Amino acid sequence: MNYFSLNTNVKELRIGDNSSKGIDKEIGKYIVFTMKIPWDVLKKNLTKTPEKIIFVESVEKDIIDNEIDNLDDFDTVLGVGGGMAIDCAKYSSWKLKKRLVSIPTILSVDAFTTPAAGIRVNHDVRYLGEASPNPLIIDYKILKTAPKSLNIAGIGDLLSIHTASFDWQIANKAKKSEFPFDSNAISNGKEILNFVYNNIGNIRENNNNGLRCIVEAYISLNTICLPIGHFRIEEGSEHYLFYELEERLKRPFLHGEIIGLGIYLMSRLQNNDFKFITSIMDDVSLSYHPKSMMILKKDLIDSILNLRNYVEKKSKLWYTIINESSIEKDWVEENIKLLNF
Ligand SMILES: [Zn+2]
Repeated sequence: MNYFSLNTNVKELRIGDNSSKGIDKEIGKYIVFTMKIPWDVLKKNLTKTPEKIIFVESVEKDIIDNEIDNLDDFDTVLGVGGGMAIDCAKYSSWKLKKRLVSIPTILSVDAFTTPAAGIRVNHDVRYLGEASPNPLIIDYKILKTAPKSLNIAGIGDLLSIHTASFDWQIANKAKKSEFPFDSNAISNGKEILNFVYNNIGNIRENNNNGLRCIVEAYISLNTICLPIGHFRIEEGSEHYLFYELEERLKRPFLHGEIIGLGIYLMSRLQNNDFKFITSIMDDVSLSYHPKSMMILKKDLIDSILNLRNYVEKKSKLWYTIINESSIEKDWVEENIKLLNF
């Protein structure tokens, strides 16, 4: 696979043990978006004090705008943490036209390699702006200080190729695809899946090869998706279930785990090799069960039953299996019975 074509969004990748050490000396005056635990880990590798440290509690646009209002002059926005911290840093770097440096401390979401920032306006997801990390720093030592499950969650935004690509094929068959159909993109996405399947043990162990596999797979995904201008091979019905649940429950989730729940249910709705993809999620020990995310049975049932209504109300959401399904209570009961609540 060609990981670093001109089409990738990452300007420079530094990857290895202690690759974050001393980065503060190269980036001028900087502000940081982070959370307490990742910042405590990373700051040991830095000597220069930031101009401002913003501890992220939300990715609501108004809250971020408020934080970055009236800052003294500075050069760089540093994002340190998981998806929320990285998305706030990406959004601010784009809005304020400052250099972006991303140091993910867990790999639970593909946010650190994608150009647009996934933020929320009244709990509704928006992808805004364009920001490229310069550099993106993957420090194995830092990633290994996190619980393994948080890095394993990174596989969610890769296994979603299984359901999302299927959705695109459904849309194409129904002549409802929003974009020109591209079978090369689909088959290149399958190659990424195979690369991930071959590294399941490494990912489960959180060893260097496993961590690297997730990062390289995300970057490969960019080389497919950025030239065609959309992420349809990776984002489909499995993400839409998450959006419905997030709007319903009004709280954040660990991205890769909630996407895992979406893959579990939507691969069943698609009748798309669901036993196989479930066995992969079990093998890598991705926590996709509602119990681990504190989702009540009643809420999940209501969410699934409302899913078609939800996607049909949101004109920006793409055509997927959901648009072709009338999901009944019996189907839901049958397909959630092996999930833990
Ligand atoms: Zn995602």
